[in-house]
Amino acid sequence: KNILGEWGGRPRVNLPPAELVDVITDLGAVIGPAHAFTPFRAIFRQNKYATLEQCYQDAVKKVKFLELGLSANTDLADKLDSLKNISFLSNSDAHSESPRSLGREFNKIKMEDPSFDELVLALERKNQRKIELNVGLNPKLGKYYNMFCNKCRRRVMFGKSEKTGNTLFNEYTISEEFIKIVSENPLNARKEYINNVSKGKIVCPACKEKINKNIKIKLGVSERIDVISTSDEPIHPNHRPPYINAV
Ligand SMILES: [Zn+2]
Ligand SMILES: [Zn+2]
Repeated sequence: KNILGEWGGRPRVNLPPAELVDVITDLGAVIGPAHAFTPFRAIFRQNKYATLEQCYQDAVKKVKFLELGLSANTDLADKLDSLKNISFLSNSDAHSESPRSLGREFNKIKMEDPSFDELVLALERKNQRKIELNVGLNPKLGKYYNMFCNKCRRRVMFGKSEKTGNTLFNEYTISEEFIKIVSENPLNARKEYINNVSKGKIVCPACKEKINKNIKIKLGVSERIDVISTSDEPIHPNHRPPYINAV
């Protein structure tokens, strides 16, 4: 929201990503995806792209950075092979009217002086310029870390059940903030559930029960990364700086 209490502030550009990158770089500016994993409008969101190349195609080499967003960190993002050559930023996403988000996340950058040219060199890791440190929230504190219902905003968790043989996700408890699905093997159940959420097959049991509406569950950042990751553990390239969880 803006200071007048209206929704706004997000410019929209109707261009294919590669063309937008060309226009921006032709003008001498730099561009990269921000809060890259969040479920709304981000490059790697559910049903969108799985790699940088898919999105930017021929222009991918001109994309200088990726901004991680509140719900992701280096350990999560480095599970994607397509990100090994790109510099990560951890920026405060302060485009609301409240000043409390300023400086919530930040980067330590090695440069000669605080200029645009030096910043570009740092993003490109040239002439010893570089991002030296990323500082951000622990991703688990991000709003969209786990699967959630788009309407009631309850998050989906998994727990262990005493009963055996339940694979239908029909044993659960609903609280103010959570839908807790219990099963004999919560890890396997979660995997199967993520698979079904990816295909748009799971409706929110709370909304079904309380307002009799079929609202689809959406993948959170952690589950979306599980789906598109190329390795189970992070593989950090040599240039990757440390990431500090600020909280
Ligand atoms: Zn934003
Ligand atoms: Zn719901």
